[in-house]
Amino acid sequence: MKDTSASEPETRNQKVETCCGEFITHSPQETFALARRIGEQLSGGEVFLLKGDLGAGKTVFAKGLAAGLGIDPADVTSPSFTLVNIHEGRLRFYHVDLYRLERAYHSDLGLDEIFLDQGGVTAIEWADKLRIAPARQVEIDLSYVSDSERRIAITEIR
Ligand code: ADP
Ligand code: MG
Repeated sequence: MKDTSASEPETRNQKVETCCGEFITHSPQETFALARRIGEQLSGGEVFLLKGDLGAGKTVFAKGLAAGLGIDPADVTSPSFTLVNIHEGRLRFYHVDLYRLERAYHSDLGLDEIFLDQGGVTAIEWADKLRIAPARQVEIDLSYVSDSERRIAITEIR
């Protein structure tokens, strides 16, 4: 039976499926739920490029993806002092944050090896800083609409 208690994010193109399209969410919970639904459908090897300003909701989205993989979202925090945090769930979840990355180190992160892990899913915050192109990338563009609303554009690039 369909759960009608959870509010669905409004979508511009009326697509029920989560990839691809443009969504407006009205709360962090809705952003989380959208990402969780995507996380539940993953099979491994996907790389999520999370783009958007500070406070756009990249970490909220990453937590939702993790929840969809059976990982406790409370364990998923922005990796401040490490560039990559690894969580074990239904699939491995590599949570990357390039915010503090200096330009000089771009090519030397070992991320290419992570991208090849077909038993893992990667989510990269501040993905604009990424200098290599993973094979199965899904771009998630988050932007501020109002204090409680975000526009989330999802584009799959194969
Ligand atoms: P980022 O990782 O992009 O810097 P965070 O995910 O850490 O951003 O924070 C997003 C902030 O915006 C949180 O404080 C969250 O509560 C707030 N917020 C308000 N509305 C939304 C929404 N619709 N979706 C996601 N976050 C939202
Ligand atoms: Mg963040």
